[in-house]
Amino acid sequence: MNGLSDDVLRIHRKEPRQVLPRIQVVGSPPFCNEKTITAHRMSQQGYVATPPYSQAQPGMGGYPAGFGSAPAQPLYRHYGGPPQSFPAPPTGMMKPVSSPSGMPPTQVPSHYGSNGQQNGAHPQSYPAPPYGQPPQSPYHSTAHQGPPPAQQLTNQMGAMNLGYGPGPMQSHQAPPTSPLIQQPFQTTPPPAMGHPPLGPPPTGPHSSQMAPPQSPLAGPPMGGPPSMGGPPPMGGMGRPFPGPPPPGAGGFQQPGPGAAGPPGYPQQLQGQLGGQMAGPGMAGPGMAGPGMAGPGMAGPFQGGAAQMAGPPQKKLDPDSIPSTTQVIEDDQAKRGGQVYTTNVRGQVPPLVTTDYTVQDQGNASPRFMRCTTYSFPSTADLAKQCQVPLATIIKPFATVPKNETPMYVVNHGETGPIRCNRCKAYMCPYMQFIDGGRRYQCGFCNCVNEVPAFYFQHLDHMGRRVDFYERPELSLGSYEFAATLDYCKNNKPASPPAYIFMIDVSYANIKSGLVRLVCEELKTLLDNLPREDGAESSMVKVGFVTYNKILHFYNVNSALAQPQMMVVSDTAEMFVPLLDGFLVNFQESCAVINNLLDQIPDMFADTNESETVFAPVIQAGVEALKAAECSGKLFIFHSSIPTAEAPGKLKNRDDKKLINTEKEKTLFQPQKAVYEQLSKDCVSQGCSVDLFLFPSQYVDIATMGDVPTHTGGSVFKYSNFQVDMDGEHFLSDLRKDVEKAIGFDAIMRVRTSTGFRATDFFGAIHMNNTTDVEMAAVDCDKAVTVEFKHDDTLSEETGALMQCALLYTTISGQRRLRIHNLSLNCSAQLSELYKSCETDALINFFTKSAYRAMLNQPLKTVREILVNQMAHMLACYRKNCASPSAASQLILPDAMKVFPVYLNSLLKTGPLVGSAELSTDDRAHQRLITTAMGVEDTQLLLYPRLVPLHNMDVASDMVPAPVRCSEERLTDAGMFLLENGCSLFLWLGQACPPELIQSIFNVTSFAHLPIDLRSLPELDNPQSKKLRSIVDSLLDQRPSSMKLLIVKQKDRSEMLFRQHLVEDKGLHGGASYMDFLCYVHREIRQVLT
Ligand SMILES: [Zn+2]
Repeated sequence: MNGLSDDVLRIHRKEPRQVLPRIQVVGSPPFCNEKTITAHRMSQQGYVATPPYSQAQPGMGGYPAGFGSAPAQPLYRHYGGPPQSFPAPPTGMMKPVSSPSGMPPTQVPSHYGSNGQQNGAHPQSYPAPPYGQPPQSPYHSTAHQGPPPAQQLTNQMGAMNLGYGPGPMQSHQAPPTSPLIQQPFQTTPPPAMGHPPLGPPPTGPHSSQMAPPQSPLAGPPMGGPPSMGGPPPMGGMGRPFPGPPPPGAGGFQQPGPGAAGPPGYPQQLQGQLGGQMAGPGMAGPGMAGPGMAGPGMAGPFQGGAAQMAGPPQKKLDPDSIPSTTQVIEDDQAKRGGQVYTTNVRGQVPPLVTTDYTVQDQGNASPRFMRCTTYSFPSTADLAKQCQVPLATIIKPFATVPKNETPMYVVNHGETGPIRCNRCKAYMCPYMQFIDGGRRYQCGFCNCVNEVPAFYFQHLDHMGRRVDFYERPELSLGSYEFAATLDYCKNNKPASPPAYIFMIDVSYANIKSGLVRLVCEELKTLLDNLPREDGAESSMVKVGFVTYNKILHFYNVNSALAQPQMMVVSDTAEMFVPLLDGFLVNFQESCAVINNLLDQIPDMFADTNESETVFAPVIQAGVEALKAAECSGKLFIFHSSIPTAEAPGKLKNRDDKKLINTEKEKTLFQPQKAVYEQLSKDCVSQGCSVDLFLFPSQYVDIATMGDVPTHTGGSVFKYSNFQVDMDGEHFLSDLRKDVEKAIGFDAIMRVRTSTGFRATDFFGAIHMNNTTDVEMAAVDCDKAVTVEFKHDDTLSEETGALMQCALLYTTISGQRRLRIHNLSLNCSAQLSELYKSCETDALINFFTKSAYRAMLNQPLKTVREILVNQMAHMLACYRKNCASPSAASQLILPDAMKVFPVYLNSLLKTGPLVGSAELSTDDRAHQRLITTAMGVEDTQLLLYPRLVPLHNMDVASDMVPAPVRCSEERLTDAGMFLLENGCSLFLWLGQACPPELIQSIFNVTSFAHLPIDLRSLPELDNPQSKKLRSIVDSLLDQRPSSMKLLIVKQKDRSEMLFRQHLVEDKGLHGGASYMDFLCYVHREIRQVLT
């Protein structure tokens, strides 16, 4: 086997027979001679043959030092290592080798002002390096930072008095007339600190749906913001999160009807909402009791319920509260189809839902890095005051559209990449060349470094290197360096990764037809293993294991006429019984492999074995990769909770009685011990685990998914799998998973300029220390959310710079460094921060931090923290940035105006909702898959797309515009598609026109639709084609496949669909969007008093 070192071979040879009793070599069971076939079939335990070769000691030992053990300090010394002297520079100059098409874009304007002073770096200061060991911040200590007054535009949610009190609807507190008042008041911006101003100022708050300002409080653009000065820190600011529910409701108000509704709104609203909201599953009319007090209600609401209880007072126009679909549409209209150039520091990118093209001009594309705000508060105090999380969601391998420039690879040969001597940051646009080009000052730590002779270049009259545009590392936000041996384990070149397919062949998987399905699929799928661009074939090696209580390894060496099976029945100390022939090149061994895949289903066709092991399976995979000295991925196809006697054995610990108790969190905590160690072993070997689960009952996903979610892997789940119903769904997941772009054995470090640093990380990652993010693998869909905290005051002049460096092994075994740089603004004006917020990124952060926190705290506390933090964020805005207005008005920053609907949706997700009606495994699964989600995925998950299809224009290529996720938007005569990246529904109204039904389903009416419709027939008419093409394109865009569920109005299955209508009251608890806004408003007022 390629890649085996002498060391390993020697060890294997000298370890003699101890292992013998454990091994059964069953020649080549069905393949070879009768005797072994019989042995195999009769008893997998009973036949012990002498292995044709001796075996290494099982277990983890036995390897040359320095490989397997996880050093406390970096495997790679250059990460965080002490400053090292620069290697003697070769003479002369080396041209960067750039991949495919030569050099980067042409004319690129200077990013940082015309003088080429890229960061305005302080010429000669040498502050201490910013890297200490940051304290890990517990979720609880939310306290962030806070800022002073500001200027900008505000949206005010206008006054509409809900009048919770006893009295009927006449509101005391004369409601300011306008329902939604917007207040684009502007002041002169602060002098732009040496960098270009932001693009067009976020003008006109939410567009059409907002009423024109009417109230005196929300008049036309205001000249000078009054009272913005420096009032003392906000009232409730310092208090710890979980606060008691706010007292009396008082003048809560809501936006009124769309246009300029005068105070006389009540009746109309009544009409609008009444009937519709009272549908099944709804909370009954209005905002009152049932809605709020439902079972499983999020903690904070319970208090609210009391207050809000009572007869419904009035109905509100749902159109008047901020709409996510409108925000998405507006951004698409404003920025869609445009080129987004990244040459401006602190520039807020288009929304993730908008179609745009990125041109890298010095900052990483938002596809790679997206921030919760693009203007950091300059001090820790400000950050603490506003409590807006400062975080960046990094997706290092994000897929880049074909019309955008691919990643350049810079190769400095044996010298390796150029790095700051002190902080080890890599050469990037933030390094300031000085002294005629002989030295450069690091933008991150300010250290002045010598320019190695080979890298010397003259500066132009603006102080910029004359080769600026020829070198990606000087002019681009993202690029790669070819890594030298210094960046490889044990200073040895890396090998191409291997994919090992491990199939549970116990009774359940055989019976369901899964085993046959997988084997059939692999025959063609393996032709599509990922390869380098332009490469003829993939260098990824493949291997095969089947298992139930014991493991079967297969020798598929191309020289064999038949595959051979080796059985390991002692799962206590797993080892790999063969070295040569286990991991092979698919093309070379194609015949043997296909032979094997043909025979596996038959070989186990008569199995009665229902017990399985699980941890030993992963262990076997890791050992195989260790032996081959490569990284790789395990694809495990597993059916049941592993109850067989073996390490990592699990028992059913599901207990619905724990729900809504202090102990509920234990349901989500993995059973540690074995699996924790396994994760570490995997990560240190670069072994990622993808788990495909086919459960028919509880399997403890919280534990089984633990290794995948620490190794950059994924957990797929197909409950009650049936080949005919779910086969295609599963296979498309498998295909995407096998074929997707991926890097292995990765370690990521996020460096920052002085004054702040990365303190917390969320993702399918493993951390041995506080700075190095280790990922056994990272693919194009995996993101890491990084939180930052202040160490010191940030400079408005230099801004906040960050550099993400990812060292990894490519699919062909090259070691590379992928660098992403991003520069943000800093401001002492909180309004700058609020103006530059990104709601989709914020909700990604909140989701991940809440889902982590729920492992350690009661769900009620987690929910309270979420609501409290949001209330503080919004209260701080109101106090410091908005113009004065009646307390009765809810005022939301424009950039955050739909944040409440996302947060409310998060509170209603399965993991956080605390309902006994949901399966524990489903909740755990959703929690786990969210861990590594990027911003696009969490956005869609928390605000699904609901697309009306009954009026679609079959002549157009466009997908109809989505509508708000609420029952009110459904119509009896309608047909709607709903998707959230995980689920896909086609909802059919009872009065759906027969012609439409006919053209889509080929039956004459709604009543004739079969009950268990599972797919769309392929009919030759425009409606059918259009619908199928919409569905296909959706499936194509999403990271994983979704199974289409066809739901008829009023059918039982409709409940599954309705739980995704996130603006409505939750089916399992949780408020409607409208109720939630009321609640949030009261919380804000509470904070402000
Ligand atoms: Zn530095």
